Amino acid sequence: MTFSELGLLPELLAAVNDLGYTEPTPIQAQAIPRILAGKDLLGAAQTGTGKTAGFTLPLLQRLAPHANTSASPARHPVRALVLAPTRELVLQVYESVRQYGKHLPLRAAAIYGGVDIKPQIEELRRGVEIVVATPGRLLDHLEQKTIQLNQVEFLVFDEADRMLDMGFMPDIRRIMERLPQQRQTVLFSATFSPEIKKLAQQLLREPETIEVAQRNTVSETITHRIVRCEAPHKREALVELLQRHPGQALVFVDTKIACGRLASHLQRHGIQAEAIHGDKSQQQRFDVLEAFKSGRLRVLVATDVAARGLDIEELPFVINFALPSNPEDYIHRVGRTGRAGHEGLAISLVDASEAERLQAIEKMLGRAIPCETLEPPARERRAEPARRRSERSGRSPDGFDFSRPYEPKADAVLAAAKEAAPHRAGNKKAVVAVLLGGSGRAQ
Ligand code: AMP
Repeated sequence: MTFSELGLLPELLAAVNDLGYTEPTPIQAQAIPRILAGKDLLGAAQTGTGKTAGFTLPLLQRLAPHANTSASPARHPVRALVLAPTRELVLQVYESVRQYGKHLPLRAAAIYGGVDIKPQIEELRRGVEIVVATPGRLLDHLEQKTIQLNQVEFLVFDEADRMLDMGFMPDIRRIMERLPQQRQTVLFSATFSPEIKKLAQQLLREPETIEVAQRNTVSETITHRIVRCEAPHKREALVELLQRHPGQALVFVDTKIACGRLASHLQRHGIQAEAIHGDKSQQQRFDVLEAFKSGRLRVLVATDVAARGLDIEELPFVINFALPSNPEDYIHRVGRTGRAGHEGLAISLVDASEAERLQAIEKMLGRAIPCETLEPPARERRAEPARRRSERSGRSPDGFDFSRPYEPKADAVLAAAKEAAPHRAGNKKAVVAVLLGGSGRAQ
C-alpha cells in the first residue's frame, strides 16, 4: 500500500514524501480512507503508531477546498478543532498540521494555557481554519468571545482517555455546546475504558471502529526489563544504567520534587540531565524539550506530564525510576520508545514496595517482565579489596584500570556536552566521542 493509493491530494503526497515516509502505517491505512469518506471514527491507537498523520492528513484534505490566501479574517473561519490533553501534545499535533499542510494555504493555531493569551487572541482574530487546543484555554477564549466555533466541520479528540483522566470532561461538555451538531468527529484513545466508550456514544454518530494494536498493549518492538533494587540504591542503579547505555534516555519519576532532585543527582555524576514537570515555566519546558528533541540534551527526567505528546524519533531508552500507580501510564511512558517500528528498551527500577504496581502492569501486558541483574552499585565495587579487583584482569599495560567503574570528571564531561555532542542516533553533525570507562566486559 502506498500513500497515493489512499487517494490523497498531490500537495499532501508531496509533504509526506518530504518527510521521507514510504508507506502508510497500519492505522493510517485504516483511518485515512474512512475519514476521507466522511465517517465518524473511533480509533484505538497506541502512541507511536502514526495516528497523528492518520487524522491530520485526511483533515487537511477535507479542508483543502476552503484553502485560500485572502487576508480577510472572514475567509478563514475555524473549520477544524483538535482537542488534546497537554500543551506538549497540542504543540506536536500543531507541528504535524504545519508539516503535512505546508503546500496548502490553510492556517493553524496552537491554543494552550500557561502562556500569555494576547498573542493567541491576535492570531485568532486574523483567522485560522485549524485550531489545536487544550480544553481549558479554549474555554477561556470561548468565554472571552475571542473564538467562534459555529463553523466547525471537523472535530478530533486526541488521547481522549487522558483528557478524561485529567478531569477535562466538564470543560469538554461546555465546548460541545458551542459546536454545530452537523460535523464529522474522530476520537482517538490509547486505551478503551467504559468511560471512553460512553463518551464515544455521546459524541460520535455510527462510528467506524479501528484498532491497530490489541487493547492496552504496547508496541512489540519494545524490550521490557525490570531491575530489582531497594529504594536507597535506585539512584546508583540509575547512574549505572545510564553509563551502560550511553544514548539518550527519558527517565520517569512520580513527583515534581523527585524530578528536580534526580536531575541534579545525575548532573553531579557527570550525566547531562534536565528536569521537566508541571511547575516549570512554559519557556523552561519549551527549552528543555527542544534541547532533548534536537539531541543536545542526553537525559530528560520527567513526571507523567511529559509522557504524552513527546514525539522523539528513535528514542532508544525509557527508564521508570518509579513504577506508575496506574498501569495504563506504564503504556504511555514506555510508548515514548519503540516508535514507528524502531527498537526500544524500557527498564523499570522496582523496589519491594512496588510489587503490587508491577503485578498490575504485568497483568495488563499479559506477561511477566524479565528481570535483569545489575552489578553491585559502584560504591560497593569500589569498596572491594584491591586484590580481587586486579584478579578481574582489568588493568591495561599502561596501568589504567578498566575494571573500575567510570568516574567522570564532571566539569570535563559537561564541557564536552556543551560543545553540543548530539546524543541522537542518526544525527550526523558534530559527533563527539566520549570514552566511558566501563567494566571491560561485553554489555
Ligand atoms: P504518532 O503515533 O502520530 O505520534 O507518530 C509517531 C512517529 O511516527 C512520528 O515521529 C511520525 O513522524 C512517524 N510517522 C508517522 N507516519 C509515518 C510513516 N508512514 N512512516 C514513517 N514514520 C511515520
